[in-house]
Amino acid sequence: MQTRLKYQTPMSNTQHFFDLDDLQLTQAVTSLGMPKFRAKQLLDWVYSKGVIDPDKMTNLSAKDRDLIKSNFTFLLGKAIHHQLATDGTQKLLIDWALDHATQSSSLDVLNNQGGPESQTECVMIPATSETGSNRKTACISSQVGCPVGCKFCASGIGGLDANLTAGQIVQQIWQLAQLPNVGRITNVVFMGMGEPLSNYNAVTQALKLINASWGLAIGARKITVSTVGLPAQIKRLATIELPITLAISLHAPNDQIRQQLIPWAEYVTIEQLKEAANFYFDQTGREVTLEYILLGQLNDQPEHARELAQIARSLRCNINLIRYNEVQGMPYNRPQSSDVLAFQTILQNAGINTHIRASRGRDIAAACGQLRHEHSK
Ligand code: SF4
Repeated sequence: MQTRLKYQTPMSNTQHFFDLDDLQLTQAVTSLGMPKFRAKQLLDWVYSKGVIDPDKMTNLSAKDRDLIKSNFTFLLGKAIHHQLATDGTQKLLIDWALDHATQSSSLDVLNNQGGPESQTECVMIPATSETGSNRKTACISSQVGCPVGCKFCASGIGGLDANLTAGQIVQQIWQLAQLPNVGRITNVVFMGMGEPLSNYNAVTQALKLINASWGLAIGARKITVSTVGLPAQIKRLATIELPITLAISLHAPNDQIRQQLIPWAEYVTIEQLKEAANFYFDQTGREVTLEYILLGQLNDQPEHARELAQIARSLRCNINLIRYNEVQGMPYNRPQSSDVLAFQTILQNAGINTHIRASRGRDIAAACGQLRHEHSK
């Protein structure tokens, strides 16, 4: 699908550090005349120590620090908004058209130096797991805007503005880790803005950087890619030998309701998604997660739960139920708590592992695309 993009990362003479894997970085530093081990040192400073200022990389010679300063960019874009929710969730709005180094507070959106067409959101969600360990999940974006345009989602309102690069995807996680009281990010979910599998090459390169022991070192099982469901790309993803969790945004118990909510469902049936999900399980051994957003009175009734149970029984899967968060100007309602519980009970009685995902950061508009949408008014 060809889409005209409204924003593109400007060409630069420097390389974005977060785009590079260990081999590419080694090649880059040696081609500048630095010894090979500088690459390892750089990776250690950035990923392990959280340092991106070459002047603070004390085991590098002054000459090499200068070379690094003039040949690499560490942060692209600028975080123009930071929010902290009462439950500890933190959110960043990054404008990729603004220069990170610009300290000026005059973020002149009206002068076309940024604006919603070049902004994405990322969120850090803290939680304590059932085993008592502290989880810090980064929810990141893969595109600016989204080409899918789900009817209930603020991210899809203006269509797709741009694909993020692998480095821009990875940078979000690194920046979230630097926020107050965060530190090491333990889990990553591609559930922010965008359809990750329609930006396949950048997303799969980012997955490698996120998982690599010299990179963010986050285990494959702690990474989730959430897709509206592109069967061909799901099958490709199944073969990259990174057993990440695949989450399919089903959101409806039949094709008819799905097509009302998700424009791309016109091209992909639930049967095709089931076939791709089974292929993913066969190749990776990983159960697929079905994401299901409950919209009051629309897809949250007992008959919908029974239909959904039938789909789930034909798969190796678990189900995540998500209560819809109201978005101003959209005609959907948050479901009644009693309906949510009844829906879960029907699925559980059918033997399907079903969780209700807790709403986090409601006081900071943490639903996908909400902050960008509100910031653009
Ligand atoms: S729900 Fe996901 S796929 Fe749908 S418009 Fe929003 S970001 Fe895109």
